[in-house]
Amino acid sequence: MKIETLLAHAGCRIHPETGGIIAPLHTATTYQRGEDGSYPHGNVYTRTENPTRQLFEETMAELEGGAFAAAFSSGQAATMSVLQSLPAHAHVIIPEDAYFGIGALLSELFMDRGLTFSRVDQTNLEAVKAVITPQTRLVWAETPSNPLCTITNLQALADLAHENQALLTVDNTFATPYFQNPFQFGADVVVHSATKYIGGHSDLLAGVVICKEQSEFAEKVRTVQKIGGAVADPFSCWLALRGLRSLGARMQLHAKNAAQVVVFLMQHRNVEAVHYAGLETAKGFELAKKQMYGFGGMVSMQVRGAAAEAMQVAAKVRIFTRATSLGGTESLIEHRASVEKPPAKTPQNLLRLSIGLEHIDDLLLDLEQALDY
Ligand SMILES: *Cc1c(COP(=O)(O)O)cnc(C)c1O
Repeated sequence: MKIETLLAHAGCRIHPETGGIIAPLHTATTYQRGEDGSYPHGNVYTRTENPTRQLFEETMAELEGGAFAAAFSSGQAATMSVLQSLPAHAHVIIPEDAYFGIGALLSELFMDRGLTFSRVDQTNLEAVKAVITPQTRLVWAETPSNPLCTITNLQALADLAHENQALLTVDNTFATPYFQNPFQFGADVVVHSATKYIGGHSDLLAGVVICKEQSEFAEKVRTVQKIGGAVADPFSCWLALRGLRSLGARMQLHAKNAAQVVVFLMQHRNVEAVHYAGLETAKGFELAKKQMYGFGGMVSMQVRGAAAEAMQVAAKVRIFTRATSLGGTESLIEHRASVEKPPAKTPQNLLRLSIGLEHIDDLLLDLEQALDY
């Protein structure tokens, strides 16, 4: 089956008792035992088993082509489970412009628990090689990256990781399974913040870890999930399944609108640089074409001037909303540099745009009036 069909049917299960065509939301926290003390349906307690969460997990595994998935209460909890599943004293390599949350987890929570890490420009393989140590157990990649939309060569990183007994994990939040499947390029683990495009409506918080194989590492992630307890709640899983059903159609329109925004920004006198995975002049474009089916809805622009000019543009928008996050139906604009902490190197004149599903004419008119200074 094609991914559009899988998506359109996400969470659709004919209910045996009612004939309802959508799987119900299971909110019960505990399950009745049989007279002999057994668990006739295999469910004990919702932290360890919940049918709504399990359906979301199975669906995500199928969409990415993996053998295992675990859903967490946020993208950060999902990321944390990957770090918690590493051996003690492991070394982790993250990209220079990773989503700032992974760096924050490593430096604020895990460094004094024995994990070490290096930040490196992963578009430069020699630089990645140079920071590998005998303790390196994880290479964490994010492509397209946030917010500079750089593209990394997943197969090359996977080969390098595997030669050194390390796993390659890819944060696939920006691309979604609709536009990129990292397992095809050798990745071992995929992480999503389902809060973004998967949920798709800015109304749920969840994360997912998907493993290519039903490995020892996957078992460790399951243990972290069940015992650590940062599980995705049933309603968020139900909403995420609902979001998945329209993911294909939404991603197509996000990408179409984004491409038109990029064309508009490229010729604007007050825009110095545009960053987008689908930009033909970008360094990583050939690679993006190879790794991605489409280029998504995330665009960054650097305006003429500095932080003040960027803030002024953000202050003037009327259709775009000034807010963090991405992947909803509504377009968002954000000045990343003012929310990130060092050592993030996001340029002060950069604004990140999450291009929504509004009519393109309204988006372009809004940007035009906001950029007029
Ligand atoms: C938002 C985001 C995360 C973290 O997800 P939460 O659901 O906010 O915890 C991780 N990676 C990327 C790329 C994100 O955009």
